[in-house]
Amino acid sequence: MCSSSQLLGIFIATVLTVLSGTAYAEQEQDIDNTRVLTIGTGSLTGVYYPLGGAVCRLVNRERERHGIRCLADSTEGSVSNLNAIRAGEMDMAVVQSDWQYHAYHGSSQFEAQGPDQDLRAVFSLHSEPFTVVARADSGITLFDDLKDKRINVGNPGSGQRATLEVVLEAMGWTLNEFAQVLELSAAEQAQALCDNTVDAIIFTVGHPNRSILEATTACDSVLVPVTGPAIDELVQSRTYYTHATIPGGLYRGNVEEIPTFGVKATLVTSTRIPEETVYQVVKAVFDNFDEFRSLHPALADLDKQIMIQEGNSAPLHPSTGRYFLETGIIDAPAPE
Ligand code: GLU
Repeated sequence: MCSSSQLLGIFIATVLTVLSGTAYAEQEQDIDNTRVLTIGTGSLTGVYYPLGGAVCRLVNRERERHGIRCLADSTEGSVSNLNAIRAGEMDMAVVQSDWQYHAYHGSSQFEAQGPDQDLRAVFSLHSEPFTVVARADSGITLFDDLKDKRINVGNPGSGQRATLEVVLEAMGWTLNEFAQVLELSAAEQAQALCDNTVDAIIFTVGHPNRSILEATTACDSVLVPVTGPAIDELVQSRTYYTHATIPGGLYRGNVEEIPTFGVKATLVTSTRIPEETVYQVVKAVFDNFDEFRSLHPALADLDKQIMIQEGNSAPLHPSTGRYFLETGIIDAPAPE
């Protein structure tokens, strides 16, 4: 007999598996004389990759009308995506709101490159709680317990790696605090946890997602709260951080809601991309909004108004304002 949380887990796993297949199918289609639009996402087991696949699926459905062929690429994650947008190697990307802020302002990881004034926010998406998962036998129940443990900090270029560095600095820690530090990608980390190669993994990601589902079903592991004065200070001093919770009951053995902090996932582009192309993406998502929300369980709670009001620190792309005005969702143009 399955418990209701096991059934939920099976349902989520099925939806997530089907979605991954969808994203591949979109990429394999090939039609000549169309404009190719690339969307940078993240690792195969996160939310960004199936989300990019969901956006492309809706865009490609209207290809005969607008001539755009949308492709969602798996990438290293937020920081790498923002560099690719800046370099003109990618047309759109899903990125964390904290790294959108820093890329636009030329701060933190982007200080050396300076501000990317061509960066534009298209809309924000789901919340991404900073998520720590530990082996149940590791004795880790608080973030402080990670000291002297083996942890996966994530691959360079990922949002979680960059955000973890911010957290460590706020706490006055360095990577020397840990017994061992691995740099595995999100797609590799659940297995490393369950093989007992690391005691804990860290992922800034929407829920539910395949990576954490795997980490909590292939072995016994627990979500760890991330709270305390350093986190409060971060949330108070930075506009792009909020207190956040990971709902209980999404993963096997994790029934309680877990407090942490988080960011928003956002869709960004560059002023270099033709406005009409971006408009077609905005239209495809919002014209088919209920369907879009049903394409991944982490998107289920999206709200159109919040998507243009929160998480966007680069200027909002004019196409978003145009769509919202045309459809009467807002009365005045969104600020450029
Ligand atoms: N937030 C992660 C990053 O930017 C990716 C999360 C996901 O793939 O869903 O690197």
